Amino acid sequence: MACLFGHKWSGCRCDKCGKIRDDGHSFTEKSRCTAACSVCGAERVRHHIENGMCTVCDHRPVSEAQYLMARKELDHAVEMKSHNKGEALKHVNQAIKLYPDFASAYHTRGEINFSFTDVSRGVTDIKKAIKLFESQGRSDNAESIRDEYKDRFFYKKLV
Ligand SMILES: [Zn+2]
Ligand SMILES: [Zn+2]
Ligand SMILES: [Zn+2]
Repeated sequence: MACLFGHKWSGCRCDKCGKIRDDGHSFTEKSRCTAACSVCGAERVRHHIENGMCTVCDHRPVSEAQYLMARKELDHAVEMKSHNKGEALKHVNQAIKLYPDFASAYHTRGEINFSFTDVSRGVTDIKKAIKLFESQGRSDNAESIRDEYKDRFFYKKLV
C-alpha cells in the first residue's frame, strides 16, 4: 500500500516497497559478453556480433549455414540496388527472413526504401539497424550510420 501513489525508484528498485523494474539496473561486467545488476541480479547479455558470430565468445545468433545464405541474399541486394530496386528489395527481405537480427540488412533495406522515397519505412529500418548494432556491441557501426544521415531532414527521428 505504501506505493499506491507511485513508487520511489532508485535505479531498478523501489525504495519504499522493494519492487523491481526492468530499468535503471546497475550492471557490472561478468565477462566481455555478460553483465549482472548488483542490486537485483538481473543479467544482461551483449555479444559483439560481426559476420554472424560473436568476436569474443563462440555465440552465434543463427547457424553458420543460415548466416551464409542471408549474407548471399544481402550481397545480391547491394549489387542490385542501383539498377533494380524491386529485385534488391526481394533479396534483402529474404536476408532478414533468414536472419532476423541482421543489422546490415536493415541498413541496406532502409537505403532501398529511401530510394523508393518511402521515408517512413526507411526511417523504421535505419532505426532498427542502429538499435541492433548497439545491442550487438557494434556501436561503431551504429555511429557511422547516424553520421551518414546527419544532414537529412529525418535525422531527428533516428536519434
Ligand atoms: Zn514501491
Ligand atoms: Zn537491477
Ligand atoms: Zn559473446
